[in-house]
Amino acid sequence: MEKQKDLEIVELMIAMYCRGKHKSKKGELCPECAELAEYVRQRRERCPFGDDKPFCSNCKIHCYRPDMRQKIAAVMRYSGPRLTFTHPVIAFSHLAETIKTRRANAKQERQKQKEKEMKDKEEKRND
Ligand SMILES: [Zn+2]
Repeated sequence: MEKQKDLEIVELMIAMYCRGKHKSKKGELCPECAELAEYVRQRRERCPFGDDKPFCSNCKIHCYRPDMRQKIAAVMRYSGPRLTFTHPVIAFSHLAETIKTRRANAKQERQKQKEKEMKDKEEKRND
């Protein structure tokens, strides 16, 4: 996911959340959400994955501070479903990527499990 695109989506979701929850005006963010948006941008700037990165919400490295992580999680919960109606293409690509990431993670887990079993067998043989 390109950094710019990723950020655009996150900011869109924060704006949606802020308008809905904090009654801010269109195109404006309340101080709390502005801080969150700024924080997200900063984290993304320093992200070791660069452009070759899943959506932040799918990322394995949870680099957000706990309080910010909670806030962004609330934003995702609120705006995620709404995005499906207002920006179906974005929502769909996000969903597709989430599924892809989950599958890849599950595959990795299975692989690890297999390796562990092989190792266990190996050790038994050596006993
Ligand atoms: Zn707000």
